[in-house]
Formats: sequence, C-alpha cells, structure tokens
Amino acid sequence: MNETLSALAYLAASVCFIQALRGLSSPTSAVRGNRLGIAGMTIAVMTTLLQPGVFDYGSIFVAVLIGGSIGAVVAYKIEMTALPQLVAAFHSLVGLAAVFVAAAAFYAPEAFGIGARGAIHASSLVEMAIGVAVGAITFTGSIIAFGKLQGLISGAPVMLPNRHAINLGLGGALILAVLWLALGQSAIAFWLIVILALALGVLIIVPIGGADMPVVISMLNSYSGWAAAGIGFTLSNPLLIITGALVGSSGAILSYIMCKGMNRSFASVILGGFGGETTAAAAGAGDRTVKQAAADDAAFVMGQAASVVIVPGYGMAVAQAQHALREMADLLKKRGVKVRYAIHPVAGRMPGHMNVLLAEANVPYEEVLELDEINRDFPSTDVSFVIGANDITNPAAKEDPKSPIYGMPILDVARSGTVLFVKRSLASGYAGIDNSLFYKDNTMMLFGDAKKMCEQIVKALEHAG
Ligand code: NDP
Repeated sequence: MNETLSALAYLAASVCFIQALRGLSSPTSAVRGNRLGIAGMTIAVMTTLLQPGVFDYGSIFVAVLIGGSIGAVVAYKIEMTALPQLVAAFHSLVGLAAVFVAAAAFYAPEAFGIGARGAIHASSLVEMAIGVAVGAITFTGSIIAFGKLQGLISGAPVMLPNRHAINLGLGGALILAVLWLALGQSAIAFWLIVILALALGVLIIVPIGGADMPVVISMLNSYSGWAAAGIGFTLSNPLLIITGALVGSSGAILSYIMCKGMNRSFASVILGGFGGETTAAAAGAGDRTVKQAAADDAAFVMGQAASVVIVPGYGMAVAQAQHALREMADLLKKRGVKVRYAIHPVAGRMPGHMNVLLAEANVPYEEVLELDEINRDFPSTDVSFVIGANDITNPAAKEDPKSPIYGMPILDVARSGTVLFVKRSLASGYAGIDNSLFYKDNTMMLFGDAKKMCEQIVKALEHAG
C-alpha cells in the first residue's frame, strides 16, 4: 500500500475511533459506537499489515490467533462484577507492549528508520524513553490494581514511611536516566529507566485504597494511551499517536469526572491513603436497632406509593437482580406508580456499571436519571428502594467530617418518605464504613439476596392483584 493510501486509511480509522468514543457516551448510541470502534480497528490492522515492511504473515497470524482466542474466551466467560480487574489486566498488557516495542526499536533502530545502533536520533530516544517509562509504570501499576480488585492482595492502602520522598527521588532518577539515554545511547540507561519506572508503578498504586480504585483504573487507562502515543512517535505511526492520545485524554477526562463524582481532588487520589479505614471503621449495629420488613410489606408500601425511586448498587450486580427488578417495576407501573431509577456516578465497581445492567434488562433510558437530575426529587418521593447499594447513600458523606467518604455527593434517599434497603446484612459497603441510614426511623431493612427479594416482591404484587 502506498503512503497516500495508508494515510487516508489511517485517517478513516481515526475518524471511526472518534465517532466510537462519541457513541459510547450514551447507552442509546453505545452499540453504534462499539461497531464504529470495531470498523476503525479493522481498517487500522489491515492497513498496518499492508505496509511495505511487513513480510512475516505466518507468525503474525499465529500471534493473532493465540491472542485473539485468549481474548475471546476471557471476554465470553468474564462476570460483569469482575470487569474492573479485567480492564486493569488488559492495561498492564498495553504497558508491557510499549516496553517491548521500545526495546525492539532501541536494539534494531534501522528497522524502525530512527538511525543506527549507537546513533539513534536524540528526539527518537527521548520519545522512546518517555514511552517506555509510562509503559513500565502502567504495567506494574495495573498489576497491583488487578491484585487489589481480585482480592489477591489487600485492598487497604500500604503507607510506606517517607513514600512521597521516595517517589520524588525515583522520579528525579528517572529524569536523569532519560537524559543519560538521550545523550549517551547507553543500554544500561535504557534498562535503568525500565527498572525505575516498574518500581514507581508499584509505589504509586500501593498507597491507594480500595474505594479510590475506580479513579485508578481510568487513570491507568489514560497512562496506557499516553504510552501508546509515545511509542507512536518512535515508530512515526500517526494512527498510534492519534489512538494513544484519544485513549490518554478520554481516560484523563473520565478520571476527572469520577473525582468530581466523589468530590475529591485528583491529587488527593493519586497521593493515596483514602479507604485506609476500610475494615477498622466498619462498625456493626451496636445497641442500635433497625426495622426489619419482609417482601410482602415492601410490596404493600410500594403498591400504595405515588412515586418510587430505585437506587441500584454493587449488590444488584452481584445478585444479577436487574431482570427481576424490572419485572417488579413493571408491576408497580401497571398500578399507576411513577417509577424511576437513580444512578450515582460511582455506583457498582466501574463507571456506567449500573447503566449497562439496567440496559441489559431493557429498562427504558428515560426512567434512568443521574444524581444531579434526581436528588432534588427525593423530598417528594414516597419510597426509595435501595437495592444492593450502600456507600452511595451514606449520610456520613455529608455529616461526618472524619469519615473517609466525607464530601462525596450521595443520593439523598433519607429525604424520601420511606427507605427500603435490600441487602443481606448490616455489613458495610466498599468504603468499609457503617451506614447510619439503616437505623433511621423511616428506613426498613429487607434482609436477603437482591434477586430473591425482588422475585418475592413480584409474587406478592401479583398475588395482591
Ligand atoms: P457498596 O459496595 O457500598 O455496597 C454494596 C452492598 O451490596 C453491600 O453493602 C452488600 O451488603 C450488598 N450486597 C452484596 N451482595 C448482595 C446480594 N447478593 N444481594 C443483596 N445485597 C448485596 O456499593 P455501592 O454501589 O453503594 O457503592 C459503590 C462503592 O464502590 C463506592 O464506595 C465506590 O467508591 C466503590 N467503587 C466504585 C467503582 C466504580 O467505578 N463505580 C469501582 C471500585 C469501587 P451485604 O453484604 O449486607 O449484602
């Protein structure tokens, strides 16, 4: 394929990627967005395969077959609740790929058109160094995030003494190693950058607590994009630069939106520590009492209501309760009850987690409202039906300056007439803190699995006619 045709094909692929991101911004257009992404990637891969320097189609085919099969099996088998760690695992591979490509370019610069061994262009060396550093940080950072989310290592923050000084020292050493590589073309400098960046990746992520993992995931997503963009410069591949920059900037924007959702500054997340109280602060009921209700009571209370707001959380995902929940909502709507869903930006374990599950159960999009669209309606809502959610409703975020979630906006369910809480126990949520809402006068606890509870409420509603 000649240069002009390649440039045009890469341009078409870039337009597809931009339109894909646009499509993915709303559930209604997400499927179209996904298709455009697939089309863009197909054009990109085909164009790359048709470049003059590509000969060894046999080994490329074998690599695609092995990698593609693993990807397909993993994607097919993965549980919705395990998607965040899968994303973290994939990011680690992007980081590792950036390191390998940079190493290949360093040892065989002629093949990449960036000079000769020992005489690589200085600008290429700097791009390569940045790509390899960001790639190595992404690699180990993502592995630590994966381990925390998968429960292989503790989700609690690990606070090393003098960690800020250590990180600053490592950062400084990294800059010096980049200069050494650019000026001296030294292989030792190259591998020193890799080692320092691998260590920095671990040290940046270990102090971050479980409750901040959503931001970490999108931040690593952003890093993996910038690593790819850096390598795109080394390889003089405009598509890799554009795609990397798109991933890098969209990940950074998502991190910003999520920090806003939790009312935390990006710096405070990255410097770590939030969620340290994870288990220590989790308190049981003590001598406080809760009101317990059964499915029949819930069916009666909601059946009599004029308006019900459903607040789904992580427990709904675990129980896969979305279909039974929609059935329950349909029966309530048949009785003339106004039913809406309230989505908190960090409900569940990844951005958009609840939207995806509700869409899967064919919940109409117009009934699904974001936090700032619904919060003012809670005082005029008869019943809030909180299903498998906890932290995102916890008044401690507004009332207790010492709480680790203080400042995080919450869904104001306490202001509705009655709060029905579906969960299995009085256990804490992801942030590991007690929820005073369980003990309020207008709260009724419905203890049990979210799906089973919805099914029982459906039966009770059907029985009541
Ligand atoms: P929480 O983790 O606060 O609460 C979920 C609740 O679901 C638990 O208290 C649990 O209580 C209950 N539960 C679990 N399994 C079931 C089941 N089978 N049936 C019924 N209930 C069940 O979730 P929220 O969605 O309210 O809040 C999200 C939290 O996760 C926030 O702290 C957020 O920062 C964090 N987070 C968010 C991410 C994101 O990107 N959205 C990513 C990572 C973390 P019990 O055990 O008593 O049943």
